[in-house]
Amino acid sequence: MIRSLNPASGETLARFDAHDAFTVDRRLTAAVAAQRAWRRRPVTERTPLLQAVARVLRKNAERYATLITLEMGKPLVEARGEIEKCAMTCDFYAEHAPAFLNDEPVASAASDSRVVYDALGVLLAVMPWNYPFWQAIRAIAPALAAGNAVVLKHASNVPQCALALDAVFEEAGAPAGLFATLLVESPAVRGLIEDGRIACVTFTGSTPAGRAIASAAGHAMKKQVLELGGSDPFIVLADADIPAAAQAALKARFQNTGQSCIAAKRFIVEHGVADAFADLLSELAGKLVVGDPMAAGTQIGPMARANLRDELHAQVQATVAQGATLRVGGKPLDGSGCFYAPTVLDHVTPHMTAAREETFGPAAAIIRVGSAEEAVDVANATEFGLGAALWTSDLARARRLSREIDAGAVFVNAVVASDPRLPFGGVKQSGYGRELGVHGLREFTNIKTVWTGKSY
Ligand code: NAP
Repeated sequence: MIRSLNPASGETLARFDAHDAFTVDRRLTAAVAAQRAWRRRPVTERTPLLQAVARVLRKNAERYATLITLEMGKPLVEARGEIEKCAMTCDFYAEHAPAFLNDEPVASAASDSRVVYDALGVLLAVMPWNYPFWQAIRAIAPALAAGNAVVLKHASNVPQCALALDAVFEEAGAPAGLFATLLVESPAVRGLIEDGRIACVTFTGSTPAGRAIASAAGHAMKKQVLELGGSDPFIVLADADIPAAAQAALKARFQNTGQSCIAAKRFIVEHGVADAFADLLSELAGKLVVGDPMAAGTQIGPMARANLRDELHAQVQATVAQGATLRVGGKPLDGSGCFYAPTVLDHVTPHMTAAREETFGPAAAIIRVGSAEEAVDVANATEFGLGAALWTSDLARARRLSREIDAGAVFVNAVVASDPRLPFGGVKQSGYGRELGVHGLREFTNIKTVWTGKSY
């Protein structure tokens, strides 16, 4: 039984039976048949589907945004932004996929030699709840453009969003079976990966689940992309614009109620400006409007599940017990929803829990350092390597330091974000492979050499 639950109230919204083996089997067979026909179409005949998906997303934006907010609790205004970003990404690939998939002639001893980008087959996408439309669409759009079919196993707490995605593709006129949601729970994933009809896997979620998926896909020898957890550093050097950095830090940590893989989690600040930065961030965090995510003006909704809130609270308590200073927040809020007070921890050291573990919720950890070099060392002293932000007025130094940070992206004087034009992904325990941009599209292609000798 898969349950849709409103985390703002604790109310059960709907219950669904998981798909039985017969339904899963039928959908996989349909995906294979649809993909065989789809890959034969020229890419310019595939991209109109993405334009149609963008139109459907925009037409029904309010309905989908409401569903996101109901099932996982983000403020409605952010859910609206999520749907528009999905539509933009479909438009982006509709426009650019033909160029990204162009043959690339290479000079050689052949009369003609070239690299071509062919489809791989049926992609299994295993996705998390934190951006229920965006995480799925950012994988589906390039995969379909490249000639693949996609089956989606979405997180069990967003089944209505998962089914809505099915309806989006149907309304957009996708060939039957080309995209399908499989309403199954996580123990079914290994069997799906082993199924001969699945060609490749993309996973976004926690590092432990990623490890399980990587081992199953490795055993089955299937191509995989893993977008896992993070503990992104947000470095503030002494020459930074502190009010601007504090405003950006607020957004970087607390948007999506802190439940973003690329949320800044460790604020690494040079001593000379640490008091000013900590005061400002604490003041701003203390003023955030927490409440009904459907209400206009709400900035922080509930966390998506009670267990996630409990885990965050345990991390905050452990960090305080280890000697950190609690500047603001630090407790669950009363009531039936999964609300947690926006929290700022100061005087955190690299060995404390909030610095070592990923904190997936509204809690910022400030670590004070003596120099830019120490800031980079502390930034890299983590098992993760997803994004990083660096605040300084010396752009030449920023460019140099950005090469020393172990991360899939470094944003200078900006908040780390995903953008369809640029590759997105991590290093170390944050995963491997890339999504978005040209690199994300080519992840799910067979990069094939075609060599032609002389004609006889
Ligand atoms: P999670 O437990 O890893 O769940 C993510 C997805 O994986 C869900 O569909 C889940 O299904 C499935 N799953 C869980 N355990 C599995 C297993 N052993 N085998 C196969 N599938 C499994 O993640 P979460 O805790 O809900 O989400 C938060 C985490 O995701 C954070 O660590 C965050 O950093 C990460 N995340 C990363 C990115 C990124 O782009 N790098 C983006 C968003 C989130 P069920 O729901 O049915 O268990």
